[in-house]
Amino acid sequence: MAFEGLTGRLQNVFSKLRGKGKVSEDDVNEAMREVRLALLEADVNFKVVKDFVSKVKEKSVGKEVMDSFTPGMVIIDIVNKELTELMGGSQAKLAKSNKPPTVIMMTGLQGAGKTTTSGKLAKLLQKGNHRPLLVAADIYRPAAIKQLQVLGEQIKVPVFSLGDQVSPVEIARQGVQHAKDNGLDYVLIDTAGRLHIDEELMEELKQIHSVVTPDEVLLVVDAMTGQDAVNVADSFNKQLELTGVVLTKLDGDTRGGAALSVKAVTGCPIKFAALGEKIDALEPFHPERMASRILG
Ligand code: GDP
Repeated sequence: MAFEGLTGRLQNVFSKLRGKGKVSEDDVNEAMREVRLALLEADVNFKVVKDFVSKVKEKSVGKEVMDSFTPGMVIIDIVNKELTELMGGSQAKLAKSNKPPTVIMMTGLQGAGKTTTSGKLAKLLQKGNHRPLLVAADIYRPAAIKQLQVLGEQIKVPVFSLGDQVSPVEIARQGVQHAKDNGLDYVLIDTAGRLHIDEELMEELKQIHSVVTPDEVLLVVDAMTGQDAVNVADSFNKQLELTGVVLTKLDGDTRGGAALSVKAVTGCPIKFAALGEKIDALEPFHPERMASRILG
């Protein structure tokens, strides 16, 4: 289960606080030391942890909290609110162009779950009465095109492909045109991923970006990779101006670092969470729900 370690440790801290009728400043300091360690162990970015703890501490040692009948509960509530803020506060919605189609570039490193997520997002859009088109622009990974076609067939969403001998920029351009010509209102471009960020990959993504001027540039990252996912997001964001992040594999035993750091480090909101391999295992990301889940 995701966040298990973090949830367990936070619950320990809070049960100690809850048991106290009065909470002293020392109690708060002690609790915050433990929260800090729990977050660091969950692979949350060091600076993010520092800021988080100092904010919670500042709000917790106030007179109102200390004098309240249930100071422990008030502090838990403060942590809950700050965790929610850390992950973006409120839900960051997917863009919708007022001049359809809405164009979404799906980006990410190989293996993060980009192609699978493209299929899942198409399915989600379809459920919301949209008419999406999937565009197969990952021409380098063997079988990526086929994988997208199989997904498309499964959910009955059209897949635009020109094979693997045409440039991804051209495929993207023609894909968007195809959507326009056929009255489709969302275009999801499955771009190429590499094992590592390299100049060639970024150059290609920038070219696609300049040709299709997307409404969304989503980066798909594997939450299991913790701080690495955050670093990848930071690099992509510096070069491409991401509009959102999709966290995948939250069904695994991810420690929480990526979910809790990515927004604070990159400024980019998490828009979706993927919780499994199945085609319907994608949901809009709700910071407040995730915070409650982490607190258990
Ligand atoms: P891409 O190279 O980024 O396009 O990655 P794929 O879409 O091919 O996904 C790589 C692997 O991760 C596949 O085996 C997917 O089934 C798996 N995967 C993707 N998303 C999730 C998820 O949310 N949870 C789990 N458990 N597996 C996932």
